[in-house]
Amino acid sequence: MSYNEVKEKLDKGKIIILDGGMGAELEKSGAKMHKDLWCGKCSVDTPDLVQKVHEDYILAGADVITTNTYGTTPISLKQYGFGNCVLEYNQKSVEIAKKAVENINKDVAIAGSVSTFGSFYRLGTKAMIPGFIEHLKILSEEGVDLIILEAMSSQADIVETIIECSQKTNLPVWLSISCVMNAKNDKVMLGYSDSIDTDTHIYESLDVAIKNFSKLHKGPILIAHSDINVTGEAVITAKKNFQGILGAYPNRGYFEKPNWKFIDNITPNDYLEYAKSWLKNGAQIVGGCCGVGVEEIKAISVLKN
Ligand SMILES: [Zn+2]
Repeated sequence: MSYNEVKEKLDKGKIIILDGGMGAELEKSGAKMHKDLWCGKCSVDTPDLVQKVHEDYILAGADVITTNTYGTTPISLKQYGFGNCVLEYNQKSVEIAKKAVENINKDVAIAGSVSTFGSFYRLGTKAMIPGFIEHLKILSEEGVDLIILEAMSSQADIVETIIECSQKTNLPVWLSISCVMNAKNDKVMLGYSDSIDTDTHIYESLDVAIKNFSKLHKGPILIAHSDINVTGEAVITAKKNFQGILGAYPNRGYFEKPNWKFIDNITPNDYLEYAKSWLKNGAQIVGGCCGVGVEEIKAISVLKN
């Protein structure tokens, strides 16, 4: 599907189904996770497994699939000693996504994931700019249909920096951010929590953050890589503070480097009920992040209208 078709659907108020998580699904299929790059190396080490995950998502009903480039940011590759592989790893990931679309022969758009993975805050946002621009350039030149800025887990100024970098691309741009609940005042905040009960990072109020991001970014905003239960509240808050298109693709489980730990407390049918509630509250794009897999995407694909 070209992006025009995705846009046409969104403009008509229709629902777009995004794929689920890549890394966690690769783990399930036996792919080896790299200690620093997580699933970033899989496109080169086990390309067939990456292609299979893409194909499974297309068959499950995804309208948009995302390249396995979350972990292959120039910033992370350079940091972990793979600086001479930036082009190769990213080219390979786009190539695999294209092959999957070709092989299944269904109308699907390819989103290039440009993430903040590996962007150490201590270096300051200025140091991140060349990496973001390089990643955007490579994925655009390799022919993705749109860009998803997966700025999940990042502070507001990093999110603003990656948005500013993306304004140089001619492609449509979606923005993903993650949220956590502030237990002290029950307010949804920009932030993240990967491990259970520990290591929760709380930044600023989501309403303030969304208002600021929307001054720079006019494309869809998606609540991603967040707890399923926080996602509902985050969509409601986002709707109140953003006039554009909204989406949601939360997590199921938690991260324990270098592996995603699955929690089997939510059935695909439960996931469908959650997705319905996000749509009711204003989301138009639904999919899944880490731990949300093919079965969940299949379940929510019935929401397509
Ligand atoms: Zn995730």
